[in-house]
Amino acid sequence: MGVVLTSSVLVTFALPLLLPFPQREEGLTLCYPVVGPVQRFNADLSVSALARTRAHEATHATQCRRDGAIWHFVRDVIPGQRLAAEAEAYCAEANFGVAKGGRARFEYARIQDELREMAWFRRLSSDVLNDSLASQCPMIAVAAAREEADWQARRNGDSVLAAKPRR
Ligand SMILES: [Zn+2]
Repeated sequence: MGVVLTSSVLVTFALPLLLPFPQREEGLTLCYPVVGPVQRFNADLSVSALARTRAHEATHATQCRRDGAIWHFVRDVIPGQRLAAEAEAYCAEANFGVAKGGRARFEYARIQDELREMAWFRRLSSDVLNDSLASQCPMIAVAAAREEADWQARRNGDSVLAAKPRR
């Protein structure tokens, strides 16, 4: 009985590692007791997409080590907790993008989109998702808002100029 239980637990844990990699998935971090985080990455990713995915999954690995496998599992099934965990991981992606020279405004818009696209969060309003991101990466959120305001001001400035009658 003990052997059966142990081996079925092992199979359950090992299955995600043995199954073909889900095509739409870019990366995956599994969190095991004792072993800790085990990661897989989609082999079809470009170098830059892989680097970005690694930044995201590295956050989940840190969460696994910080929370332990049990709490990590519990967090995954409580929507509010899962949202905080994903927002933190997406913020790491945006930080990575900005560190690589990306604009905060574009990086932030991108992770807002990505979070909205997640099946888990379809029922949550954009405000809830955005609040979660803003609390996980306030610096990027503020920088993105400032860049957006600058861009709007420049655009309005341009259209005022364009509207001036020509002589
Ligand atoms: Zn994630």
